[in-house]
Amino acid sequence: MKLLVVEDEMQLADALTEILKRNMYSVDTVYDGIEGLDNALTGVYDGIILDINLPGMNGIDILKNLRREKINTPVLLLTARSEIEDKINGLDCGADDYLTKPFVTGELLARVRALTRRKGELVDDNKLDFNGLELKKNTCSLCWQGNDVKLSLKEYQIMELLISNPKQIMPKERIIEKIWGYESDVEYNNIEVYISFLRKKLLVISAPVQIKTVRGIGYSLV
Ligand code: CA
Repeated sequence: MKLLVVEDEMQLADALTEILKRNMYSVDTVYDGIEGLDNALTGVYDGIILDINLPGMNGIDILKNLRREKINTPVLLLTARSEIEDKINGLDCGADDYLTKPFVTGELLARVRALTRRKGELVDDNKLDFNGLELKKNTCSLCWQGNDVKLSLKEYQIMELLISNPKQIMPKERIIEKIWGYESDVEYNNIEVYISFLRKKLLVISAPVQIKTVRGIGYSLV
């Protein structure tokens, strides 16, 4: 899952980012509104945590711009206690939820989980499943019929992307975009290395699931 944090209080922004990263999210963080809008318009994120009072452009205007451009990424607004009008306005402009500062970590994470959960979908937030192959968040592991193997963070994030998009070919560019970000200098052969680690781990737990290479495009789970 890839999140965008737009918050100009650097300490808060960095603390938020740290908490989210520790919870397996890949996170881009920006400190002003213009950059926030630029990033958000890419449509690459699974969720956006958006402050309201920002230099450059405020959160409400960012939100309006996004919805006008038909970018429907779920948005969690961060508001100060005094900004009741902003909350109402924000929800009316297409925010999905809001959180009042200061907040506790547990609530933030619960709201982010709710935000990124597909509508009406009944899910176990700790587990993703592909035909019996389980990807577990709390232990950062892959599991097949009682056999467990630990994953590194990047392995976990790649597997999460593949399992969340079943029956699709996941292009290599998309994997880079989602996990490392646009401006990274990660190359395709870095991804190939992680994929080869994952293939070995699938063998270790005897899972009858393969990561198929679609030549010139990317990967899919079969
Ligand atoms: Ca602010």
